[in-house]
Amino acid sequence: PAQNKHDIAAIAKLFDMRADFVHAHPYGSGHINDTYCAYYDQAGQRIRYIHQRLSTEAFKKPIELMENVQRVTEHALNELLKSGDKEARRRTLTCIPSVEGTPHAIDADGNCWRTYPFIERARTYDTIESEAQAMEAARAFGEFQKLTATLPGKPLHETIPGFHNTKQRFQHLEDAIAADTHGRAAEVQKEIEWFMARKDEASIVVDLLESGELPLRVTHNDTKLNNVMLDDVTGEGVCVIDLDTTMPGSAIYDFGDMVRTATSPVAEDEEDTSKITMRMFMFEALVKGYLSSAKEFLTDKEVSLLAFSGKLLTMECGSRFLTDYLKGDVYFKVHKDRHNLIRTRSQMALAESIEAQMPEMEALVAKYR
Ligand code: ATP
Ligand code: MG
Ligand code: MG
Repeated sequence: PAQNKHDIAAIAKLFDMRADFVHAHPYGSGHINDTYCAYYDQAGQRIRYIHQRLSTEAFKKPIELMENVQRVTEHALNELLKSGDKEARRRTLTCIPSVEGTPHAIDADGNCWRTYPFIERARTYDTIESEAQAMEAARAFGEFQKLTATLPGKPLHETIPGFHNTKQRFQHLEDAIAADTHGRAAEVQKEIEWFMARKDEASIVVDLLESGELPLRVTHNDTKLNNVMLDDVTGEGVCVIDLDTTMPGSAIYDFGDMVRTATSPVAEDEEDTSKITMRMFMFEALVKGYLSSAKEFLTDKEVSLLAFSGKLLTMECGSRFLTDYLKGDVYFKVHKDRHNLIRTRSQMALAESIEAQMPEMEALVAKYR
Protein backbone atom coordinates (compact mmCIF):
# COMPACT_ATOMS: atom_id res chain seq x y z
CA PRO A 1 0.00 0.00 0.00
CA ALA A 2 1.05 3.58 -0.65
CA GLN A 3 2.78 5.53 2.13
CA ASN A 4 1.11 8.49 3.80
CA LYS A 5 2.65 11.73 2.58
CA HIS A 6 1.21 13.54 5.60
CA ASP A 7 1.00 12.92 9.33
CA ILE A 8 -2.69 12.08 9.58
CA ALA A 9 -2.61 11.53 13.35
CA ALA A 10 -1.64 15.20 13.60
CA ILE A 11 -4.40 16.20 11.17
CA ALA A 12 -6.93 14.26 13.27
CA LYS A 13 -6.13 16.52 16.22
CA LEU A 14 -7.16 19.59 14.21
CA PHE A 15 -10.77 18.36 13.93
CA ASP A 16 -13.52 17.84 16.47
CA MET A 17 -13.52 14.05 15.95
CA ARG A 18 -14.94 12.85 19.30
CA ALA A 19 -13.23 9.50 18.61
CA ASP A 20 -9.71 8.07 18.85
CA PHE A 21 -7.53 8.00 15.76
CA VAL A 22 -6.28 4.50 14.91
CA HIS A 23 -4.63 4.62 11.48
CA ALA A 24 -5.01 6.03 7.97
CA HIS A 25 -3.99 5.32 4.40
CA PRO A 26 -4.16 7.13 1.05
CA TYR A 27 -7.50 6.48 -0.60
CA GLY A 28 -9.31 6.63 -3.95
CA SER A 29 -8.20 7.69 -7.41
CA GLY A 30 -8.73 11.45 -7.31
CA HIS A 31 -6.34 13.60 -9.33
CA ILE A 32 -6.65 16.89 -7.52
CA ASN A 33 -6.61 16.59 -3.73
CA ASP A 34 -4.77 14.24 -1.35
CA THR A 35 -7.42 11.90 0.05
CA TYR A 36 -7.00 9.67 3.13
CA CYS A 37 -9.28 7.12 4.68
CA ALA A 38 -8.86 7.20 8.47
CA TYR A 39 -10.07 4.66 11.04
CA TYR A 40 -11.26 5.82 14.44
CA ASP A 41 -12.37 4.08 17.57
CA GLN A 42 -15.57 5.45 19.01
CA ALA A 43 -16.64 3.67 22.20
CA GLY A 44 -15.28 0.38 20.87
CA GLN A 45 -16.71 0.82 17.38
CA ARG A 46 -14.56 1.23 14.28
CA ILE A 47 -15.68 4.16 12.14
CA ARG A 48 -14.12 5.71 9.07
CA TYR A 49 -13.64 9.29 8.02
CA ILE A 50 -12.19 10.96 4.94
CA HIS A 51 -9.48 13.56 5.50
CA GLN A 52 -8.58 15.58 2.43
CA ARG A 53 -5.80 18.05 1.81
CA LEU A 54 -7.05 20.58 -0.71
CA SER A 55 -4.87 21.13 -3.73
CA THR A 56 -3.39 24.58 -3.39
CA GLU A 57 -2.42 24.49 -7.05
CA ALA A 58 -5.99 24.01 -8.20
CA PHE A 59 -7.70 26.14 -5.56
CA LYS A 60 -6.37 29.56 -4.77
CA LYS A 61 -9.05 30.43 -2.22
CA PRO A 62 -9.57 27.26 -0.14
CA ILE A 63 -11.39 29.03 2.68
CA GLU A 64 -14.02 30.50 0.31
CA LEU A 65 -14.28 27.08 -1.31
CA MET A 66 -14.95 25.45 2.06
CA GLU A 67 -17.49 28.14 2.92
CA ASN A 68 -19.36 27.08 -0.24
CA VAL A 69 -19.11 23.39 0.66
CA GLN A 70 -20.25 24.03 4.22
CA ARG A 71 -23.30 26.05 3.15
CA VAL A 72 -24.34 23.59 0.45
CA THR A 73 -23.93 20.43 2.55
CA GLU A 74 -25.61 21.90 5.62
CA HIS A 75 -28.56 23.01 3.54
CA ALA A 76 -28.77 19.65 1.75
CA LEU A 77 -28.80 17.78 5.08
CA ASN A 78 -31.53 20.04 6.47
CA GLU A 79 -33.69 19.50 3.38
CA LEU A 80 -33.18 15.72 3.51
CA LEU A 81 -34.01 15.58 7.22
CA LYS A 82 -37.09 17.75 6.66
CA SER A 83 -38.30 15.35 3.98
CA GLY A 84 -38.04 12.51 6.52
CA ASP A 85 -35.33 10.65 4.60
CA LYS A 86 -34.00 7.92 6.92
CA GLU A 87 -30.78 7.72 4.93
CA ALA A 88 -30.27 11.51 5.02
CA ARG A 89 -26.74 11.26 6.39
CA ARG A 90 -25.65 9.01 3.55
CA ARG A 91 -27.14 11.23 0.88
CA THR A 92 -24.93 14.24 1.35
CA LEU A 93 -21.40 14.96 2.43
CA THR A 94 -21.24 16.73 5.79
CA CYS A 95 -18.30 18.70 7.14
CA ILE A 96 -16.81 17.68 10.48
CA PRO A 97 -15.83 21.00 12.06
CA SER A 98 -12.31 21.82 13.12
CA VAL A 99 -11.63 22.31 16.84
CA GLU A 100 -12.10 26.00 16.08
CA GLY A 101 -15.53 25.41 14.59
CA THR A 102 -14.61 26.09 10.96
CA PRO A 103 -15.22 23.64 8.08
CA HIS A 104 -11.49 23.62 7.31
CA ALA A 105 -8.28 23.39 9.33
CA ILE A 106 -4.80 24.66 8.48
CA ASP A 107 -1.89 22.38 9.42
CA ALA A 108 1.63 23.37 10.57
CA ASP A 109 2.81 23.56 6.95
CA GLY A 110 -0.04 25.84 5.89
CA ASN A 111 -2.03 23.10 4.10
CA CYS A 112 -5.82 23.35 4.11
CA TRP A 113 -7.68 20.21 5.26
CA ARG A 114 -11.28 19.07 5.56
CA THR A 115 -12.98 16.02 7.05
CA TYR A 116 -16.09 14.14 5.95
CA PRO A 117 -17.80 11.09 7.41
CA PHE A 118 -17.08 8.11 5.16
CA ILE A 119 -20.10 7.18 3.04
CA GLU A 120 -20.33 3.45 3.79
CA ARG A 121 -21.78 0.64 1.67
CA ALA A 122 -21.27 2.59 -1.53
CA ARG A 123 -18.43 3.23 -3.96
CA THR A 124 -17.37 5.24 -6.97
CA TYR A 125 -16.51 3.83 -10.40
CA ASP A 126 -13.78 5.28 -12.57
CA THR A 127 -15.35 4.09 -15.80
CA ILE A 128 -19.00 3.61 -16.60
CA GLU A 129 -19.85 -0.05 -16.82
CA SER A 130 -23.54 0.12 -17.66
CA GLU A 131 -26.51 2.23 -18.68
CA ALA A 132 -27.91 1.71 -15.19
CA GLN A 133 -24.88 3.45 -13.70
CA ALA A 134 -25.21 6.37 -16.13
CA MET A 135 -28.87 6.71 -15.23
CA GLU A 136 -28.22 6.62 -11.49
CA ALA A 137 -25.37 9.12 -11.70
CA ALA A 138 -27.51 11.53 -13.75
CA ARG A 139 -30.40 11.13 -11.33
CA ALA A 140 -28.09 11.84 -8.39
CA PHE A 141 -26.73 15.03 -9.99
CA GLY A 142 -30.33 16.12 -10.63
CA GLU A 143 -31.16 15.43 -6.96
CA PHE A 144 -28.16 17.48 -5.93
CA GLN A 145 -29.36 20.44 -8.02
CA LYS A 146 -32.83 20.04 -6.56
CA LEU A 147 -31.48 20.16 -3.00
CA THR A 148 -29.32 23.20 -3.69
CA ALA A 149 -32.02 25.05 -5.67
CA THR A 150 -33.46 26.29 -2.38
CA LEU A 151 -30.15 27.46 -0.87
CA PRO A 152 -30.93 30.72 0.93
CA GLY A 153 -28.70 33.78 1.21
CA LYS A 154 -26.04 35.35 -0.93
CA PRO A 155 -24.70 33.61 -4.04
CA LEU A 156 -21.84 31.13 -3.59
CA HIS A 157 -18.27 32.25 -4.20
CA GLU A 158 -17.16 31.79 -7.79
CA THR A 159 -14.18 29.62 -6.84
CA ILE A 160 -12.92 29.33 -10.42
CA PRO A 161 -13.98 32.52 -12.23
CA GLY A 162 -15.29 32.00 -15.76
CA PHE A 163 -15.12 28.21 -15.44
CA HIS A 164 -17.78 27.58 -18.09
CA ASN A 165 -17.71 30.92 -19.83
CA THR A 166 -17.52 29.38 -23.29
CA LYS A 167 -17.52 32.78 -24.93
CA GLN A 168 -14.43 33.74 -22.96
CA ARG A 169 -12.86 30.32 -23.58
CA PHE A 170 -13.20 30.94 -27.33
CA GLN A 171 -11.71 34.40 -26.85
CA HIS A 172 -8.71 32.80 -25.13
CA LEU A 173 -8.37 30.47 -28.11
CA GLU A 174 -8.38 33.43 -30.50
CA ASP A 175 -5.77 35.18 -28.34
CA ALA A 176 -3.57 32.08 -28.43
CA ILE A 177 -3.91 31.85 -32.21
CA ALA A 178 -2.94 35.51 -32.61
CA ALA A 179 0.05 35.20 -30.26
CA ASP A 180 1.14 31.83 -31.68
CA THR A 181 3.99 31.71 -29.18
CA HIS A 182 5.12 28.22 -30.19
CA GLY A 183 4.65 28.48 -33.95
CA ARG A 184 2.00 25.77 -33.88
CA ALA A 185 -0.93 27.65 -35.47
CA ALA A 186 -0.04 26.87 -39.09
CA GLU A 187 -0.16 23.16 -38.41
CA VAL A 188 -3.65 23.31 -36.86
CA GLN A 189 -5.49 25.50 -39.39
CA LYS A 190 -8.18 22.87 -39.92
CA GLU A 191 -8.87 22.65 -36.20
CA ILE A 192 -8.89 26.44 -35.84
CA GLU A 193 -11.42 26.77 -38.67
CA TRP A 194 -13.57 24.08 -37.07
CA PHE A 195 -13.82 26.03 -33.82
CA MET A 196 -14.28 29.43 -35.48
CA ALA A 197 -17.18 28.03 -37.53
CA ARG A 198 -18.90 27.25 -34.20
CA LYS A 199 -18.12 30.48 -32.41
CA ASP A 200 -21.71 31.78 -32.37
CA GLU A 201 -23.03 28.56 -30.87
CA ALA A 202 -20.40 28.72 -28.16
CA SER A 203 -21.93 31.88 -26.69
CA ILE A 204 -25.59 30.75 -26.63
CA VAL A 205 -25.76 29.76 -22.95
CA VAL A 206 -23.57 32.61 -21.70
CA ASP A 207 -25.82 35.10 -23.51
CA LEU A 208 -29.03 33.53 -22.17
CA LEU A 209 -27.65 33.64 -18.62
CA GLU A 210 -26.75 37.29 -19.08
CA SER A 211 -30.18 38.21 -20.40
CA GLY A 212 -31.87 36.27 -17.61
CA GLU A 213 -33.58 33.81 -19.98
CA LEU A 214 -31.67 31.00 -18.28
CA PRO A 215 -31.53 30.90 -14.46
CA LEU A 216 -28.27 30.90 -12.56
CA ARG A 217 -28.29 27.91 -10.21
CA VAL A 218 -25.99 26.15 -7.79
CA THR A 219 -24.23 23.63 -10.00
CA HIS A 220 -21.64 20.94 -9.36
CA ASN A 221 -19.39 21.54 -12.36
CA ASP A 222 -17.53 18.23 -12.23
CA THR A 223 -20.25 15.74 -13.10
CA LYS A 224 -18.15 12.65 -13.80
CA LEU A 225 -19.32 9.18 -12.79
CA ASN A 226 -16.55 8.86 -10.20
CA ASN A 227 -17.98 11.82 -8.33
CA VAL A 228 -21.12 9.87 -7.40
CA MET A 229 -21.21 7.11 -4.78
CA LEU A 230 -23.34 4.19 -5.98
CA ASP A 231 -24.89 1.87 -3.39
CA ASP A 232 -23.07 -1.50 -3.16
CA VAL A 233 -26.31 -3.46 -3.04
CA THR A 234 -28.90 -1.54 -5.04
CA GLY A 235 -26.63 0.42 -7.40
CA GLU A 236 -28.58 3.52 -6.49
CA GLY A 237 -26.80 6.88 -6.79
CA VAL A 238 -26.67 7.69 -3.07
CA CYS A 239 -24.43 10.71 -2.75
CA VAL A 240 -22.76 13.28 -4.97
CA ILE A 241 -19.21 14.03 -3.76
CA ASP A 242 -16.27 16.23 -4.82
CA LEU A 243 -17.95 19.59 -4.29
CA ASP A 244 -14.84 21.71 -4.97
CA THR A 245 -16.27 23.31 -8.08
CA THR A 246 -19.80 23.82 -6.73
CA MET A 247 -20.66 27.42 -7.54
CA PRO A 248 -23.14 29.54 -9.50
CA GLY A 249 -23.69 28.11 -12.98
CA SER A 250 -26.19 26.68 -15.42
CA ALA A 251 -27.86 23.28 -15.23
CA ILE A 252 -26.87 23.01 -18.90
CA TYR A 253 -23.20 22.79 -17.90
CA ASP A 254 -23.73 19.93 -15.48
CA PHE A 255 -25.83 17.89 -17.89
CA GLY A 256 -23.59 18.69 -20.87
CA ASP A 257 -20.51 17.49 -19.06
CA MET A 258 -22.25 14.21 -18.23
CA VAL A 259 -22.95 13.75 -21.94
CA ARG A 260 -19.34 14.59 -22.78
CA THR A 261 -17.83 12.21 -20.23
CA ALA A 262 -20.31 9.33 -20.29
CA THR A 263 -21.47 8.72 -23.84
CA SER A 264 -18.22 8.00 -25.69
CA PRO A 265 -16.92 4.40 -25.53
CA VAL A 266 -13.25 5.47 -25.47
CA ALA A 267 -10.94 7.68 -23.42
CA GLU A 268 -10.71 11.44 -23.80
CA ASP A 269 -7.35 11.10 -25.60
CA GLU A 270 -8.26 8.36 -28.07
CA GLU A 271 -6.18 8.81 -31.25
CA ASP A 272 -8.38 6.72 -33.53
CA THR A 273 -11.24 9.16 -34.02
CA SER A 274 -13.28 6.52 -35.86
CA LYS A 275 -13.86 4.93 -32.43
CA ILE A 276 -15.35 8.09 -30.98
CA THR A 277 -19.11 8.28 -31.05
CA MET A 278 -21.97 9.59 -28.95
CA ARG A 279 -23.79 6.40 -27.95
CA MET A 280 -27.52 7.03 -28.04
CA PHE A 281 -28.39 4.38 -25.42
CA MET A 282 -26.09 6.10 -22.94
CA PHE A 283 -27.61 9.49 -23.77
CA GLU A 284 -31.04 8.02 -23.21
CA ALA A 285 -29.96 6.68 -19.80
CA LEU A 286 -28.64 10.13 -18.84
CA VAL A 287 -31.79 11.94 -19.99
CA LYS A 288 -34.05 9.46 -18.25
CA GLY A 289 -32.08 9.62 -14.98
CA TYR A 290 -31.57 13.36 -14.97
CA LEU A 291 -35.13 14.31 -15.86
CA SER A 292 -36.53 11.88 -13.28
CA SER A 293 -35.14 14.15 -10.56
CA ALA A 294 -34.72 17.49 -12.37
CA LYS A 295 -37.82 17.95 -14.48
CA GLU A 296 -39.84 19.38 -11.62
CA PHE A 297 -37.55 22.40 -11.30
CA LEU A 298 -36.02 22.87 -14.76
CA THR A 299 -37.48 25.63 -16.92
CA ASP A 300 -38.71 24.91 -20.47
CA LYS A 301 -35.74 26.84 -21.81
CA GLU A 302 -33.31 24.63 -19.88
CA VAL A 303 -34.99 21.45 -21.06
CA SER A 304 -34.89 22.72 -24.65
CA LEU A 305 -31.10 23.02 -24.42
CA LEU A 306 -30.31 19.58 -22.94
CA ALA A 307 -29.61 17.91 -26.29
CA PHE A 308 -27.35 20.79 -27.31
CA SER A 309 -25.58 20.89 -23.94
CA GLY A 310 -23.36 17.90 -24.70
CA LYS A 311 -22.08 19.52 -27.85
CA LEU A 312 -21.47 22.81 -26.06
CA LEU A 313 -19.42 21.27 -23.27
CA THR A 314 -17.49 19.10 -25.73
CA MET A 315 -16.65 22.16 -27.84
CA GLU A 316 -15.65 24.05 -24.73
CA CYS A 317 -13.32 21.30 -23.61
CA GLY A 318 -11.87 20.91 -27.10
CA SER A 319 -11.21 24.64 -27.34
CA ARG A 320 -9.31 24.47 -24.05
CA PHE A 321 -7.13 21.62 -25.31
CA LEU A 322 -6.38 23.51 -28.54
CA THR A 323 -5.61 26.71 -26.64
CA ASP A 324 -3.20 24.81 -24.42
CA TYR A 325 -1.57 23.17 -27.42
CA LEU A 326 -0.99 26.58 -29.02
CA LYS A 327 0.43 27.93 -25.75
CA GLY A 328 2.94 25.10 -25.46
CA ASP A 329 1.09 22.72 -23.08
CA VAL A 330 1.13 24.81 -19.94
CA TYR A 331 -2.14 23.79 -18.26
CA PHE A 332 -3.01 20.15 -18.99
CA LYS A 333 -0.38 17.54 -18.17
CA VAL A 334 0.86 15.92 -21.39
CA HIS A 335 2.19 12.37 -21.58
CA LYS A 336 3.03 12.09 -25.26
CA ASP A 337 3.86 14.13 -28.34
CA ARG A 338 0.94 16.37 -29.43
CA HIS A 339 -1.17 15.05 -26.58
CA ASN A 340 -3.30 18.20 -26.41
CA LEU A 341 -3.83 18.11 -30.17
CA ILE A 342 -4.96 14.48 -29.94
CA ARG A 343 -7.37 15.49 -27.18
CA THR A 344 -8.61 18.41 -29.28
CA ARG A 345 -9.38 16.12 -32.19
CA SER A 346 -11.17 13.60 -30.00
CA GLN A 347 -13.46 16.32 -28.64
CA MET A 348 -14.12 17.56 -32.18
CA ALA A 349 -15.06 14.02 -33.24
CA LEU A 350 -17.44 13.66 -30.31
CA ALA A 351 -19.03 17.05 -31.01
CA GLU A 352 -19.51 16.08 -34.67
CA SER A 353 -21.12 12.80 -33.63
CA ILE A 354 -23.51 14.78 -31.43
CA GLU A 355 -24.23 17.23 -34.27
CA ALA A 356 -25.13 14.34 -36.56
CA GLN A 357 -27.55 12.87 -34.01
CA MET A 358 -29.26 16.02 -32.76
CA PRO A 359 -32.78 15.27 -34.04
CA GLU A 360 -32.84 11.88 -32.31
CA MET A 361 -31.42 13.39 -29.12
CA GLU A 362 -34.11 16.12 -29.18
CA ALA A 363 -36.74 13.41 -29.59
CA LEU A 364 -35.45 11.55 -26.51
CA VAL A 365 -35.55 14.70 -24.38
CA ALA A 366 -39.16 15.23 -25.51
CA LYS A 367 -39.97 11.62 -24.60
CA TYR A 368 -38.82 11.92 -20.97
CA ARG A 369 -39.75 15.50 -20.14
P1 ATP B 1 -11.06 14.40 -8.94
O1 ATP B 1 -9.88 13.87 -9.66
O2 ATP B 1 -12.34 13.70 -9.34
O3 ATP B 1 -11.21 15.90 -8.95
P2 ATP B 1 -10.49 14.71 -6.10
O4 ATP B 1 -9.03 14.68 -5.93
O5 ATP B 1 -11.17 16.02 -6.07
O6 ATP B 1 -10.90 13.92 -7.40
P3 ATP B 1 -12.58 13.34 -4.56
O7 ATP B 1 -13.35 13.01 -5.77
O8 ATP B 1 -13.18 14.31 -3.60
O9 ATP B 1 -11.08 13.77 -4.93
O10 ATP B 1 -12.28 12.02 -3.72
C1 ATP B 1 -11.48 10.97 -4.24
C2 ATP B 1 -12.15 9.64 -4.02
O11 ATP B 1 -12.26 9.41 -2.61
C3 ATP B 1 -13.57 9.56 -4.55
O12 ATP B 1 -13.62 9.19 -5.90
C4 ATP B 1 -14.19 8.52 -3.62
O13 ATP B 1 -13.93 7.23 -4.10
C5 ATP B 1 -13.47 8.74 -2.32
N1 ATP B 1 -14.27 9.57 -1.38
C6 ATP B 1 -14.27 10.92 -1.28
N2 ATP B 1 -15.10 11.35 -0.31
C7 ATP B 1 -15.64 10.23 0.23
C8 ATP B 1 -16.57 9.98 1.32
N3 ATP B 1 -17.10 10.98 2.03
N4 ATP B 1 -16.88 8.70 1.59
C9 ATP B 1 -16.33 7.67 0.89
N5 ATP B 1 -15.46 7.84 -0.12
C10 ATP B 1 -15.11 9.09 -0.45
MG1 MG C 1 -13.49 13.33 -7.74
MG1 MG D 1 -12.27 17.00 -7.63
